Amino acid sequence: MTENYIGILTSGGDASGMNAAIRAVTRSAIFNGLKVKGIYRGYEGLIADEVKELNTEDVSNIIQRGGTILKTARSKDFMTPQGRAKAYETLRKEHITALVIIGGDGSLTGARIFADEHEDIVCIGLPGTIDNDLYGTDTTIGYDTALNTIVECVDKIRDTATSHDRLFFVEVMGRDAGFLAQYGAVAAGAEAAIIPEDHTDADQLETFINRGFRKTKNSSIVIVSESNKDKGALHYAKRVEKEYPQYDVRVSILGHLQRGGSPSAYDRILASRLGDGAIQALLEGQRNVMIGIHNDQIAYIPFAEAIKTDKPIDKSLIRILNELSI
Ligand code: ATP
Repeated sequence: MTENYIGILTSGGDASGMNAAIRAVTRSAIFNGLKVKGIYRGYEGLIADEVKELNTEDVSNIIQRGGTILKTARSKDFMTPQGRAKAYETLRKEHITALVIIGGDGSLTGARIFADEHEDIVCIGLPGTIDNDLYGTDTTIGYDTALNTIVECVDKIRDTATSHDRLFFVEVMGRDAGFLAQYGAVAAGAEAAIIPEDHTDADQLETFINRGFRKTKNSSIVIVSESNKDKGALHYAKRVEKEYPQYDVRVSILGHLQRGGSPSAYDRILASRLGDGAIQALLEGQRNVMIGIHNDQIAYIPFAEAIKTDKPIDKSLIRILNELSI
């Protein structure tokens, strides 16, 4: 009888700690007598049959590395029924009966649709995204590392901001979620954060300026989420130049450096627990769930729940930032 395999892939944007998760899934599976195949380049590689068996030594020396050894991709083909049918053919051919998908909300949306179409394949998701926008898990793999990188950068920007008495708008990633911006602002002691979750009718920039957030200080840092809804740091800088010309304003867009680098200890432990959690879930007969950690406990979250939009940000963080930035 042919032995079955667990397939593992990383999809969407890369996130630090994905390698630690690949290592954990592979080793935990082998420890429990299961076999693993790595699928390269996410759903693209699944469609194109870019598959290789993973043994324990294949995942040696990767827990500390950023990025993903399996590479990642965004796949237009997987968004079509024909593309997903090809992906299914690959799984049949490779004797893969369970698939572990490490990615963000898009990747898990794809997994959910695929799981509905092909009931003989068990899909398990792991939250791998710097955006922290998946429901049911307190944090996602890569978020903590990205947050630490942001704080390190903002600390450096503050040195130059203070030396020149400047107002800096620092744009951070997060897609439509403001976790990196809000928590980054608190951690870096920034004066304000402009995030999509804090949208009211009031103009956020006007509110900050009217609050006099710069009156007692000779420099200020405002972290702006990249979200389209907020139009980004350049937009706000232009507005300040026009509406409040007394301020010497600058912009720094942190960009892709937020994705790279060695994962933090927190992300390595999170990825290790989630990777092991994926195998435990399979052994328990779970299917079509994302593994998360909520209140320090492993949680199984149905895909539909995990990918709900607008994961809320704890509003107390907004209040605390306002309070501490006087
Ligand atoms: P990140 O949070 O880092 O951006 P992500 O997983 O959300 O990661 P996306 O680019 O949104 O990244 O999605 C990754 C891939 O998942 C897409 O390229 C596509 O192949 C698949 N995918 C996304 N949405 C769907 C969908 N509605 N149907 C099928 N596949 C999808």
